[in-house]
Amino acid sequence: MLIQLKKDISELQQNQILELMVNTYRLKPQCIDTPRAKYVVAPSGDKPLDIRVLGGLDGVKDIHRVSDAYKLVSSAWRIQPTSIDLGDEVRIEKGGLSIMAGPCSIESEEQIVETLDFLRAKGVQIMRGGVYKPRSSPYSFRGLGIEGLKLWYEHANQRGIKIITEIMSVDQMKEMMPYVDVFQVGTRNAQNFNLLDALGRQSKPVLIKRGMSATLDELLQAAEYVFSSGNEDIMLCERGIRTYEKSYRNCMDTNAISLLKEKTHLPVIADPSHGIGIRKYVPQVAYSAIMAGADGVLLEIHPRPDEAFSDAQQTLGFRTAERCFQGVRETFALRVKLES
Ligand code: PEP
Ligand code: MN
Repeated sequence: MLIQLKKDISELQQNQILELMVNTYRLKPQCIDTPRAKYVVAPSGDKPLDIRVLGGLDGVKDIHRVSDAYKLVSSAWRIQPTSIDLGDEVRIEKGGLSIMAGPCSIESEEQIVETLDFLRAKGVQIMRGGVYKPRSSPYSFRGLGIEGLKLWYEHANQRGIKIITEIMSVDQMKEMMPYVDVFQVGTRNAQNFNLLDALGRQSKPVLIKRGMSATLDELLQAAEYVFSSGNEDIMLCERGIRTYEKSYRNCMDTNAISLLKEKTHLPVIADPSHGIGIRKYVPQVAYSAIMAGADGVLLEIHPRPDEAFSDAQQTLGFRTAERCFQGVRETFALRVKLES
């Protein structure tokens, strides 16, 4: 069950609601307070409940039965699609199209500036890049860290471009915070519940990648952690899952995109670069993800892709990237037309 409270509910009214839920219906309610609204969530109890009783209490705005394990992120109660405002008229929203592009890793000032200028010229408002890199081998390049992020921010800010970058642990959050527009949770951390909780207690938007062997319910419950800790600005990202197939890096699950669009009010972003892991096919995987309903793409691009410190094999050069942005926009326009 999910109860939307009135924003100006008094403490007394709130306590009355909680007491009724605990004492009469033996429920275990949890209060959630975000900058946008107040909620009470409770898993279904064993005692039959007439929701009109709770719905009639002072301070209650609306009440919904949500039978999914995830509640706050479910589309069962919120019809309004989530729109995330990054400032300066940059929005990521369900039903819209966001392009985020940049290198796998931030490597140098030159690479930062070349990429920012390219993106700005092509009308892309959000740059991706890792400064803390999760690498399979500890001997691989692990990112420039906070100094790289500060340098990147300085140039991005001058050009009005927003930054999405991966956070790997709770202790990185404080120092990253001033320089980040969207925190990315990587596939390897998609069930790091301490990190998800901590991201819920701060106000920057969060993109959660699907764990490489996660079910859709697990992905949605990862988002539920962030929301229930107080942050509603969440987007999900399909980046391919591990299968037995060896001829590509991951299996881009476009089915997941279509289903997530149905299950949640959150925007769903596609990462075709990690999704297939082969440069040549990235654009067509991006188009198929948009056709399946993705609200945006996260693309790895680099001024000299063969020299990229990480994920070179799946990174697009600028010429291909430009064509891919165009293709993504055209595919989106086609989808909108087909859906109307
Ligand atoms: C990345 O975006 O570069 C990355 C490491 O992604 P993932 O967590 O999906 O592997
Ligand atoms: Mn990468």
